[in-house]
Amino acid sequence: MRDPSGVAGAPLTYRDLAGIDVGRLKGVGERKRASLASLGVENLLDLLTNYPRRWIDRTREARIADLVPGDEALVLAEVRSVTKRVTRNRRTMVNVTVGDGSGRMHVVFFNQPWREKQLRAGLHVALFGKADLYQGALQMTNPIVDTVGDGTADKTGRIVPIYPQSEKVQLSTWEIAGFVDEALRRSAERGIADPVPAEVVARLGMSDRFTALGAIHAPGSMGEMSNARRRLAFDELLRVQLLLVLRKRALEAGARGLAHAVGGELVRRFHEALPYPLTGAQQRVIAEIDTDLAAPHPMHRLLQGDVGAGKTVVAVTALLAAVQGGHQGALMAPTEVLAEQHATGVRTLLGDLRVPDPGNLFGERPVRVELLTNRVGAAERRDILAGLADGSVDLAIGTHALIQESVGFHSLGVVVIDEQHRFGVEQRAALRDKSGSDGTGHVPDVLVMTATPIPRTAAMTVYGDLDVSVLDELPPGRTPIRTQWAAGPLMELEVWGDVRAEVAAGRQAYVVTPLIEESEKLDVASAHETYERLVHDELEGLRVGLLHGRLSAAEKDQTMELFRAGQLDVLVATTVIEVGVDVPNATVMVILDADRFGIAQLHQLRGRVGRGTHASTCWLVTSSDDPNPRVAALVASTDGFELAEVDLDLRGEGTLMSTSQKGRSDLKLASLRRDRELVELARAAAFEIVDADPGLAQHPDLGDELVLLFTDEAAEFLTKS
Ligand code: ADP
Ligand code: MG
Repeated sequence: MRDPSGVAGAPLTYRDLAGIDVGRLKGVGERKRASLASLGVENLLDLLTNYPRRWIDRTREARIADLVPGDEALVLAEVRSVTKRVTRNRRTMVNVTVGDGSGRMHVVFFNQPWREKQLRAGLHVALFGKADLYQGALQMTNPIVDTVGDGTADKTGRIVPIYPQSEKVQLSTWEIAGFVDEALRRSAERGIADPVPAEVVARLGMSDRFTALGAIHAPGSMGEMSNARRRLAFDELLRVQLLLVLRKRALEAGARGLAHAVGGELVRRFHEALPYPLTGAQQRVIAEIDTDLAAPHPMHRLLQGDVGAGKTVVAVTALLAAVQGGHQGALMAPTEVLAEQHATGVRTLLGDLRVPDPGNLFGERPVRVELLTNRVGAAERRDILAGLADGSVDLAIGTHALIQESVGFHSLGVVVIDEQHRFGVEQRAALRDKSGSDGTGHVPDVLVMTATPIPRTAAMTVYGDLDVSVLDELPPGRTPIRTQWAAGPLMELEVWGDVRAEVAAGRQAYVVTPLIEESEKLDVASAHETYERLVHDELEGLRVGLLHGRLSAAEKDQTMELFRAGQLDVLVATTVIEVGVDVPNATVMVILDADRFGIAQLHQLRGRVGRGTHASTCWLVTSSDDPNPRVAALVASTDGFELAEVDLDLRGEGTLMSTSQKGRSDLKLASLRRDRELVELARAAAFEIVDADPGLAQHPDLGDELVLLFTDEAAEFLTKS
């Protein structure tokens, strides 16, 4: 192999940089090398993509002597002394004195005991905060702190990069900046290659990669820094999108699907028998799905729709397109409870729908729907499995167990996955082997439904290998739900008053019991406790039922049936009622300890009311009146898509992408939250590049970079196409 650091030749690629050890930089001996390694920096690529976590604009810097009490200011100073004590009300307080040659200042940290160890005397720090007068002296309380090292504070330019640091590592931010500077200077002769097509870069008005790398580490101005950040964040997002688009195209190209006959008799009968017309959004989405179903390649589509948007009808329509053509459909839910609810829902929806069947004496037969879960007894199970194998079962409903090895289909045509958790690439691969025994070797069409909307840009990344359909219209006749926050015991009294008033008016109510995350057992105990309390106190005299996950299916059915029939006024339940329960006469939803739930879950629970013509209320009960941004968001909006954006803002993207997902570790600068526009641009660019050049043969550097950073998976797609 050639030495990538050799002077001759083309601009350095990321692979070249990854091949040069940091130990070759001046000043990086064994010890520094080990310190860098503990920051994850072993080669020049690591070093150059170890971006500053903050930049300090020294034109905004103040000298301590010039500080005006009450003003926010940035101060670069040296730590003089550090002491720690515990205050009377048991808060820790770290007192620090700093000086910058012009004067001294006190800095106080409350509840940050670790500051005592972090801030040793002699350390140079950048402090950002408000300076106040306290007992006649200048003081900053809980400022933002960046440790910049032990050196003198005046050896760099106007904008000072602050590098991520760990407590163990003895490397100052100045030292890292020095190594980066040397790496950039040494690269200057050959330059650093830019694998992104020049047209794309030019169209977006971005700088080339080498310029951007220089400017992110040593910007002349904050504007330069943010341009550089934009370019490099785009690169990260483009790589993720390229991988996803390659995967998407590979799935489409590599697999033979069924070309379903859409718009047939069965689907027409089904729609005609519905007690309502389809909404415009349902019609549009069904048309999108039909286009996929009719095409010879397998569908991979995500259906997003808010709670109550009517996804079930859309899903059943797709499943029936398979049945119409003599194939089978499968509907998979994340839990057994949900599978059971789906089975009930789908059976009700289908009514006595009949399949045309020339082999039958009467020319038709009822659609056969079977529920397959672990609760099904052995004999029945055998019967269902036999029906799946010979094709006499039309629709199978169950959990992911449906795609287990032991389940064989005659000819599986369409799979609908109602997911809460990600249905991974592996599961989708398993579907390829599930097509059935009919000998066609086709891959079933797949529709994934999300129980809760996720933001558009997040969907593009988390589900980037799928096409997306959006049900953005609720069926008519819904009355908007009023959401109220009951903070503290006094307001809770009002809640029970409202429940009693609604029951007196003939309506019904749900009470969701406090969520105990640790275990289902505790959750059930909490439900029992709440039930006992309410029955003997707040809701005494009302007909109250209890529903939780530990009841048998029969017990659950019975309770649900009583509630549905109006023979129970109030249903006390754990989150088992989160999805699927549909009782239009229920107009009050009370969620206890609402601050323990996430936004998506609260929104799902709220969606259980507001399903009929009567006005509904959702009460979010919290024991204290501390501000809670999630509860506040629910009060402010009933739009699931809007709430999904808020959720992303509050939680960050970490929760959306599992750590195992490829590409996550590559997002060092980019944020699905802040860089929504860049995500869209990157996705569009990825389609443009891949569709013009499916194997990236015209873009070898780009392809090589994907292989370098994503290893096997990218390599697999590139060689396949
Ligand atoms: P989702 O699964 O999207 O939360 P569902 O499929 O459970 O929603 O539908 C919610 C409710 O809306 C159900 O009671 C269903 O019968 C009703 N529904 C669905 N489509 C329509 C429509 N076009 N017009 C009126 N009601 C509808
Ligand atoms: Mg549903």
